[in-house]
Amino acid sequence: MIQSIFFLIISGFLLSKAFFKFKTIYRNINLGKNTTLEPSGQRLKNMVLFALGQRKMFDKPIVGILHLFIYAAFIITQIEFLETIIDGFFGTHRIFSKFLGSFYTLIINSIEILSVFALVATIIFLYRRNILKLLRFQKPEMKGWPSMDANLILFGEITLIFGIFLMNSSDQLLQQLDLKHYPTTGKFYLSSIISEHVLSAFPKDWLQLFERLGWWIHYITVLGFIVYLPTSKHLHIFLAFPNSYFSKTNSRGEMSAMPVIENEVRSMVGLDAKPINEPISENFGAKDIFDLSWRNLLEAYTCTECGRCTSVCPANLAGKKLSPRKIMMDIRDRTEEIGQKIDKANSNIDILKFEDGKSLFDKISREEIYACTSCNACVEACPVLINPLEPILELRRYDILMNSSGPNDWLPMFNSLENNQSVWAIAEPRTKWISDNS
Ligand code: SF4
Ligand code: SF4
Repeated sequence: MIQSIFFLIISGFLLSKAFFKFKTIYRNINLGKNTTLEPSGQRLKNMVLFALGQRKMFDKPIVGILHLFIYAAFIITQIEFLETIIDGFFGTHRIFSKFLGSFYTLIINSIEILSVFALVATIIFLYRRNILKLLRFQKPEMKGWPSMDANLILFGEITLIFGIFLMNSSDQLLQQLDLKHYPTTGKFYLSSIISEHVLSAFPKDWLQLFERLGWWIHYITVLGFIVYLPTSKHLHIFLAFPNSYFSKTNSRGEMSAMPVIENEVRSMVGLDAKPINEPISENFGAKDIFDLSWRNLLEAYTCTECGRCTSVCPANLAGKKLSPRKIMMDIRDRTEEIGQKIDKANSNIDILKFEDGKSLFDKISREEIYACTSCNACVEACPVLINPLEPILELRRYDILMNSSGPNDWLPMFNSLENNQSVWAIAEPRTKWISDNS
């Protein structure tokens, strides 16, 4: 009875905390501009392939398989977690075993086998990050909290596996004592090895203590994980699904047009203006998160900080300051910053007129945005279909069109475009090559 009350208090407190955090993230993502989604039957397929199937992870098969071990173990462990919740609530013990019989034994054995694989994968990931010091995990944006965040989750995974085996192996011995509270579940093969070689010398009271300890470690670690997720890069476990569903489905190289500018250009080259079916804005590009679309902000929250984008970025490889991963992290951090300011001001703030004297340009330098070659390599590399190029282009558009800024060595190109409709300073009609080759 006391345990059930304690269970309810802890669960209620932690779950309500998680709920409000997730609600805040949903509100923050909606601070972005509305955007028209391209019509496509591809969305569901993308979600199944890239979020559920983790297709891009298998571009590097060994890492893909290791990641799959952790992912599969996490998913299947939720069956045991669900049972833990029901047991904790009603004061029962291994409630599913009564209904599932030998299938229950199969499930727990599968969880244990996958947990061992996940443990091996976790140790390898810790080794790669902290001892092997893989280059993409050592970039400047990964210093401090991002590195700590990744390690914390990996240690959390080890704690969870420890809890599962402590709980199961002591339970196996308690079942042999024929105590009424511990129903017979069949043999858990891996736990039995621990029971036999480590725990068999302990008396009943100790075994009960170990079983409860393992049970609570298991429960609190998963619950703690749910509460921790909204402040961690591991939020992608959930957000990869909506993100891959809503990701752009048109061709990678297609840049969104600015209708007003497009019409200016059309008139310069003697073409009719196109009708504009959206409200005409006086601003071009993006200065802050409010100018980016909610899809860009969803992407920022989905970023796994894996660095695959940065490791293929030609600008970064050439030693420039640009890192597409950092761009996404900066957008997320700025969104969080604004969200916290809105929360502090309670309802005394008009979100549409939010102003704190700062912008994305306080986090992302001009040196970074102008180093981008628009090659799309980062977009291709991202395992969860994030497009770092889009916000880079929006920031650039703002700086050039609203601040009349831009690198000095781009000025001749702008002049040529204006005078010759070509990036080259050649005073010949742009379409002359057609008649030359006819
Ligand atoms: S599009 Fe820009 S940020 Fe992305 S890989 Fe190419 S140069 Fe780097
Ligand atoms: S944008 Fe994609 S590839 Fe780049 S760090 Fe984030 S998740 Fe990884």
